[in-house]
Amino acid sequence: MNIAIDGPGGSGKSVLAKNIARKLGLIYVDTGALYRTVGLNACRREIAMEDKAGIVASLEGITVELRYENGEQHVYLCGEDVSGFIRTPEISMYASAVSSVPEVRAFLDSTQRSLVRRGGVVMDGRDIGTVIMPDADVKIFLFASPEHRAERRTEELLARGEKVTYEEVLSDINKRDRADRERETAPAVPADDAVMLDNSGFMPEDTFAAAIHIINEKTGSDYDDVL
Ligand code: C5P
Repeated sequence: MNIAIDGPGGSGKSVLAKNIARKLGLIYVDTGALYRTVGLNACRREIAMEDKAGIVASLEGITVELRYENGEQHVYLCGEDVSGFIRTPEISMYASAVSSVPEVRAFLDSTQRSLVRRGGVVMDGRDIGTVIMPDADVKIFLFASPEHRAERRTEELLARGEKVTYEEVLSDINKRDRADRERETAPAVPADDAVMLDNSGFMPEDTFAAAIHIINEKTGSDYDDVL
């Protein structure tokens, strides 16, 4: 079984996908980490976010790989584990900028597709149900109001020691949403056959329970025992 979870930043995709993976015995693939790593590479090389040609040139000779260590996904840039460097607000904006460049999407395509071919994945991103896994058994588009998402993201970033305010996070979320939705290549829009799940005001366990009901309904399974 393959499950696609798409939706905007801060909607809780990764928490949901991790819970599903753990309870249903699937492999969790966080595709945002791939775009964040290409963004980190561009940032380290001091390439401006608007410099598309520079971003394309920055792909030359680099490798971006996902590896699984003790059940956790790690992302490697040219052999270096950069998992600890990709979750800052600056790299979020870089990830969004590089993700609108078709050459970057093509560059990361084969890594994602080879994981899909192995099967048994729950993948989160923006174009999983539309481009990467159009045949997924279950597609969920998870969303919440920008204010709810900014609240969650601010808490998460403060807990990690980042110095951010709610207003800055909300403004970044709105900018990133617009850029992701309006880009020409693989815009972040729901697949026609995705189930829309609004989790504004939900706790993670409520989102998980709602997703299990969707999975049961779509696959004719009965996973209620994991709730
Ligand atoms: O999901 P996450 O917030 O980590 O993604 C970071 C950025 O990477 C997003 O804002 C989006 O621009 C890009 N992305 C994408 N396609 C994906 C996953 C992420 O364009 N499948």
